[in-house]
Amino acid sequence: MIQLYIPLNFLGTLYREIKQSLTDLDRMFVLMDQQREVADAPSAQPLALQAEPELRFDDVHFAYHPGRPILQGLSFVVPAGKTVAVVGPSGAGKSTLARLIFRFYDVQSGAIRIAGQDIRDLTQDSLRRAIGIVPQDTVLFNDTVAYNIAYGRPGASQDEIVQAAQAARIHAMIAASPEGYATRVGERGLKLSGGEKQRVAIARTLLKNPPILIFDEATSALDSANERAIQQELQKAAQGKTTLVIAHRLSTVVDAHEILVMDAGRIVERGTHAQLLALGARYASMWSLQRNQAQD
Ligand code: ADP
Ligand code: MG
Repeated sequence: MIQLYIPLNFLGTLYREIKQSLTDLDRMFVLMDQQREVADAPSAQPLALQAEPELRFDDVHFAYHPGRPILQGLSFVVPAGKTVAVVGPSGAGKSTLARLIFRFYDVQSGAIRIAGQDIRDLTQDSLRRAIGIVPQDTVLFNDTVAYNIAYGRPGASQDEIVQAAQAARIHAMIAASPEGYATRVGERGLKLSGGEKQRVAIARTLLKNPPILIFDEATSALDSANERAIQQELQKAAQGKTTLVIAHRLSTVVDAHEILVMDAGRIVERGTHAQLLALGARYASMWSLQRNQAQD
């Protein structure tokens, strides 16, 4: 029993870490099938995919632990092919939105709908194939760089992998390492910085090219030169995609269809950039604060 217990416990910890950072899921789920928090409903259907599905939260309540509510009645719509941005202080519940859309957890009440379908009625496989997430912290597989980038689209050609890596500004670094794209990453291979891992995750998502995109502070670990370049690539990728951008830098949300300001699990302000500036409240003061910081 003891021999069994230790590795299972280790896997549990690993699983939780990976889930928290929203990485790669499908393979982990296969490995640890029993530990899924959510399961396919017996009648689960594959997501009927429109090219540009609408994403909708209807009065969503959620808690990780009973008695400690995290999301308290969230309603918003990301119209098909549009970008909605979420901003707000750390701990507001922003990353939780991403975890719920990917269905790591189920909502306590209310519903999340994609193209009109409650995601609890969908097969997880079809749901996850339709969504690309660039998480806040990326955990990579102990495998080659190429594998890690192509993970989003098995069977991708070397050319496609290189293109995605170029767009994510990680190609030069990979090409310079002795084994190129065959270089292994992780413990006994190439050690990547937070920013480099984030760029691998961006390359993976660009290659996957799904109809729904979620960027969770996707460029937060990058230096400002890389950040600006990659921001442009992400904006290009988001054209015509249903996109939720969780942003730490407000300059990236100016053009969003709608901006949601979250605090303590609620939407406390919402509108376009111009509307929120005119309102002269939370968003407006965050904006002037960031502008002053940028000038310093
Ligand atoms: P944000 O992304 O806005 O910083 P999160 O969505 O990550 O916020 O977290 C919202 C709240 O939920 C925080 O108070 C955080 O401590 C809590 N939280 C996040 N993940 C978990 C978890 N796995 N279990 C319990 N509480 C969590
Ligand atoms: Mg977060």
